[in-house]
Amino acid sequence: MRVVLMGPPGAGKGTQAQVVAGILGVPHVSTGDIFRANVAGGTPLGVEAKRYMDAGEYVPDGVTNAMVRDRLSQDDARPGFVLDGYPRTVEQVAELDAMLESAGQRLDAVLELTVDTDEVVARLVKRAAEQGRSDDSEDVIRRRLEIYAEQTAPLTATYHEQGLLRQVYGQGSVEDVTARILEALDVKR
Ligand code: AMP
Repeated sequence: MRVVLMGPPGAGKGTQAQVVAGILGVPHVSTGDIFRANVAGGTPLGVEAKRYMDAGEYVPDGVTNAMVRDRLSQDDARPGFVLDGYPRTVEQVAELDAMLESAGQRLDAVLELTVDTDEVVARLVKRAAEQGRSDDSEDVIRRRLEIYAEQTAPLTATYHEQGLLRQVYGQGSVEDVTARILEALDVKR
C-alpha cells in the first residue's frame, strides 16, 4: 500500500506514520527524519538542510525531491511505503506523481490528520522541552504553521479532486487515532 500522511507540524504524523507502516509492513519514509539524520551526520545534505530547518522554512524542492527519489527507488519501498512530511509543495506533488508513474505505481490514499491549532502549538512546545529540537522554538513553530497553511494545506484540494484524500481526526490517544487511520484505509487488524 502507498500512503501519504499529511497534517500540520505537531499533528502526530511521525508517531502515526511509524505505527501504521509497521502494521502495513512497509517502510516509514519521513523526509524530516532523513534531513535530521543528515544534519546529525554532518553530511553536505545536512549542512544545506539545516539552514532552512532552523528557520522553519522548507528545504528547496530540488534537494528534497532528489532525496525522496533516491529513497523510494530502494528495494524495500517497492511493495509500498508510508510517506510522512512529503509532498509539501505543488512541485513535490508533481514530482511524486512522476516518480510513481515511471515505476507503474500510484498512491492508494492520502490521509490528512486534522487537529486544533491550539492543540498543535501546545504539542510542539511540549516536544521542544522533551526533545530539544532546534526548530521547536515558539517563533519558528509559528513560522512552520504559517508555511504549512500557505504551501501545504492547499495540496489537500488536489488530492481531494483525485479522490484520494481522507481526513482523519488527529486528537485523542495514539491508539484511537491509529484505529481511525486503519478504518480510513479499510485495513482490518
Ligand atoms: P518534519 O519533521 O516533517 O516536521 O520536518 C522538519 C523540517 O524538515 C521542516 O520544517 C522542513 O524544514 C524540512 N522538511 C521536511 N520535509 C520537507 C519537505 N517535503 N519539503 C521541504 N522541507 C522539508
